[in-house]
Amino acid sequence: MNFFLFEDEVEMPDELLNEDGQLFSHCKQCHQSLQDPAQPYTLEKVFKRYPNTEKPQVLFEYAICDTCAGEIRGEFSEESAANMQGYFAEKLEAREEEFSEDIHHRMQHCMLLGSPLAEEQEYAVVARGNGSKMLQSQYPFAISVTAMDEMQELISEKTRDLLDDFVGKNFPGPPEFETVPVDGKWVLV
Ligand SMILES: [Zn+2]
Repeated sequence: MNFFLFEDEVEMPDELLNEDGQLFSHCKQCHQSLQDPAQPYTLEKVFKRYPNTEKPQVLFEYAICDTCAGEIRGEFSEESAANMQGYFAEKLEAREEEFSEDIHHRMQHCMLLGSPLAEEQEYAVVARGNGSKMLQSQYPFAISVTAMDEMQELISEKTRDLLDDFVGKNFPGPPEFETVPVDGKWVLV
């Protein structure tokens, strides 16, 4: 989702550390370090609400270096890429509110629908990093499962298979995820 123009380097906020409270250290795809030396990357944390817990739980999380993200994007079908960009552009234009400068506000609202994530069962937070810094632009942003499901209608079988492959290869499913299949629809590279 290559739509950033200017990126400001700021401290990585705690919300964007991994589940162990650490910076994302390696690219999920090529396993190269993101920290030493510092590399630009995209990170994503997917959350799910369970009825028995107060706070949403991390369903899965990863970081991917710009080189690998570019390679995956390069394999998307042209039609899917155009449809997804069109969907983003249309939803962003339709938003009545200004895009908030407050990153905490952004991480609590769906960027595409403007709706509060408190009302969503699942959502993803996507951000950019460079080593230990966060790169701020349109990133970080959050997307609700409602918007993700709408976007699924717009992507081809081939692109969907590609994203499912990325997830299948990289998230073989530790025990705690066994009952919750990780879904390729959440991959926003
Ligand atoms: Zn990589």
